[in-house]
Amino acid sequence: QAKARGGGRLTFFDVQLRERVQRHMALEQDLRHAASKDQLWVAYQPVVDLRTERTVAAEALLRWDHPAHGAVSPGEFIPIAEESDLIQHVGAHMLRTATRQFAAERDRLELDLQLNANLSPRQLRDPQLHTVVQHALAAAELPAEALCLEITEEAIMHDPAQATWVLNELRDLGVELAIDDFGTGYSSLAQLQRLPVDTLKIDRSFVSDLGESSDREAIVTSIIAMAHSVALTVVAEGVETARQLDLLAGLGCDKVQGYYLGKPAPFDELPTRNPLLRHRKSAQRR
Ligand code: C2E
Ligand code: MG
Ligand code: MG
Ligand code: MG
Repeated sequence: QAKARGGGRLTFFDVQLRERVQRHMALEQDLRHAASKDQLWVAYQPVVDLRTERTVAAEALLRWDHPAHGAVSPGEFIPIAEESDLIQHVGAHMLRTATRQFAAERDRLELDLQLNANLSPRQLRDPQLHTVVQHALAAAELPAEALCLEITEEAIMHDPAQATWVLNELRDLGVELAIDDFGTGYSSLAQLQRLPVDTLKIDRSFVSDLGESSDREAIVTSIIAMAHSVALTVVAEGVETARQLDLLAGLGCDKVQGYYLGKPAPFDELPTRNPLLRHRKSAQRR
């Protein structure tokens, strides 16, 4: 085809496409051994309760230090794992690693924190999922209620009936459940009410331009009202500024997460007490 168009020469787009495909294939190949070669590690990002201003949870986010490509983001390698059979392997490794490390640190520091971990759409369809979660909890000696599993709204709405069945099964283990990236799918209040979930996380895209447009504020207001009407806790993701934080507090949001409160980092860098205090102190000094 390139021949027909470019008279035998590869066009810029052909080269770009070929490079993309090659990178994809190479990453897929390397991901098979990333866990056994110790290239995967877990970063933790604080989730802060707006009422007590304390860190109440940490979201586990997978990191891949590739020997040749450097840090590859989960936004790139999770979809690659998802398209192959790798996600089961990577997902189970992640759950085992995060629960073990988190349980140990939590005990050592005597912190009453919850661990949030992400599940991908394909993991939700894995008949082994229930067993994988159960084994990870048991091996780590982490109480089930200290784990909250995050599933995106998109993954749930792909097949709500099937998702509800799986979520109920997970809930029977005693873990909590959250809907991640909420607002990007098209769930109705009726659907929300039927789902066995505890928490709703508002997608970062709604938070990022809070304070800049009043219709964004109206959407966030109605998401919070809707969630509260069916007794769900609301977490806002992607809080980057004091202004966004103040607006969310004013709108009655329960918890916040974002760079303003702490970036994903190794566990020992997790701001465990009051991340807001740090910002207030530096504000006073100015
Ligand atoms: P997510 O679960 O919605 O995680 C939040 C993402 O937003 C993280 O990106 C986090 O670093 C980023 N973030 C947090 N606060 C801010 C902020 O204030 N500003 C901005 N611009 N970004 C912020 P990350 O770590 O690159 O992960 C991207 C996505 O990859 C996650 O979205 C999640 O869907 C997926 N992911 C990460 N780790 C895992 C995993 O272990 N398993 C599965 N299945 N998915 C994972
Ligand atoms: Mg998440
Ligand atoms: Mg999210
Ligand atoms: Mg996301």
